[in-house]
Amino acid sequence: MSVTSLRVVIQHLAFIILTYGGLLRIQIGMFIPCLSCPFVYSCSGYCYLLIFQRSVGVILLPLTAVYQGSDPYGAIWSNFLLFLGGLGVFSILVILLGKTWCGWLCPFGLFQEWITRLRKAFRIRESEIILRHKHILSKIKYVLLVYMIVFPLLVSVGILPVDFILAFCNICPAKALMPLFIGDFQYMALDMSTGVAFGFSIALLAITAGMLIGAFFKDKFFCLFCPMLAIVNLYRGLYLLKVVKDPKACHGCGNCRRTCSMDNETIYRERVKSNVYDSDCMACFKCAEGCAADKSLFVKLGPFKIFSSSRSYASKR
Ligand code: SF4
Ligand code: SF4
Ligand code: SF4
Repeated sequence: MSVTSLRVVIQHLAFIILTYGGLLRIQIGMFIPCLSCPFVYSCSGYCYLLIFQRSVGVILLPLTAVYQGSDPYGAIWSNFLLFLGGLGVFSILVILLGKTWCGWLCPFGLFQEWITRLRKAFRIRESEIILRHKHILSKIKYVLLVYMIVFPLLVSVGILPVDFILAFCNICPAKALMPLFIGDFQYMALDMSTGVAFGFSIALLAITAGMLIGAFFKDKFFCLFCPMLAIVNLYRGLYLLKVVKDPKACHGCGNCRRTCSMDNETIYRERVKSNVYDSDCMACFKCAEGCAADKSLFVKLGPFKIFSSSRSYASKR
């Protein structure tokens, strides 16, 4: 079985378990480093971004009038320790599997790959305009990360109402789209309960429509903006599972760049270092599979090389 076939099987299994596992009482935890959305009521593992925003959104709450207890600084410290505990579990998961959370396990990532297959079935090419502006677009994920921290913090000090605590979830297209897989359309409707909820629901529908169009014309379009990827990128250098390059063995054929759905130029251009890290890499390992030079690209798990590129493997593909 090829690496890509194995990846496709694991992606679909992960989709089924993460999306429907809750129906069988499977619970994997609340610190999952990919968009396994808890707004899907049958979800078995929660995307960490929800807990992250909630934790930030209550951290300073004891300083506001809402707090009724006697020791606000003790309560802030407890909130902070809870936040650190969650971040610690999340960090271990990221370090263990690195970007394979994106390329092998993320249900929303797989959903985008289905859209890509649809485009390919119509023999439509990726949008040149998006590709040309990819480097600028991919910076937006860091803006969203700041937004996702600042708004819940403003809630925690009482400047913004509690409707803003899940600032990113309120506009995340996974919230609108993933519940459709269990026949739940509620987040595709306008929420008229408050002015803020109404504004967020309009924004959510507009962003979801934009994301669907974008994903049709560019592979993994939403991943360019995903704040989960922005957080996971902070752990670069610590991942145990990753692609590395031996530049001396590279023939410069360009197969790695051609097969990469994230258009990683570094993996092709690097001629000195073994580190071919790219912030948008999804660890799909298609580059290592497609590479026609013997032992030029490797998939490493800690110190172990678990896959090496080879001319014979690439020629069979
Ligand atoms: S709405 Fe998006 S960010 Fe929020 S929990 Fe769901 S997938 Fe994660
Ligand atoms: S970057 Fe893409 S694959 Fe990774 S968590 Fe976000 S949506 Fe999922
Ligand atoms: S650089 Fe390689 S592992 Fe990363 S996304 Fe591109 S093909 Fe996949």
